[in-house]
Amino acid sequence: METIQGHCLCGAVTITLTEYRAEVGVCHCAMCRRWSGSAYAFFTAPDDAIRVAGEVRTHRSSSFSQRSFCPTCGSGLWLKDDGAEETEFCAGLFEAARDFPLISEAYVDQHLTALTLEGDHRRVTAETYEEKFPFVPTAELPQGRT
Ligand SMILES: [Zn+2]
Ligand SMILES: [Zn+2]
Repeated sequence: METIQGHCLCGAVTITLTEYRAEVGVCHCAMCRRWSGSAYAFFTAPDDAIRVAGEVRTHRSSSFSQRSFCPTCGSGLWLKDDGAEETEFCAGLFEAARDFPLISEAYVDQHLTALTLEGDHRRVTAETYEEKFPFVPTAELPQGRT
């Protein structure tokens, strides 16, 4: 597998991945919409295949996950669930990820209308997602609404 590199907007943080899953997922949940400004597009890499250079800050966004960003330019870098052995990287940091296919959308019923994604990928509604995975109840989000 070819090693790929990504970096934040200002270039202070660079990420090198020697292994990764070359497919993109998108999440439209209220947290990801705010963090990304639109929709969070990501792909995953195993923790032992990740090298990071540069200063990174981390925001604990829920009781089960945290999100890291560049303190200089504010670019989102990755999301990590507690105890997970892989990390979700913001796809836009990596030129190589432009060619990765879209495989799934979560919280598809909460997407920005302007970001209606075409294709026959898997689509998961908020209700279905919340049956299977940990999530933050809407009432517990800041402002208490989506
Ligand atoms: Zn930066
Ligand atoms: Zn999300």
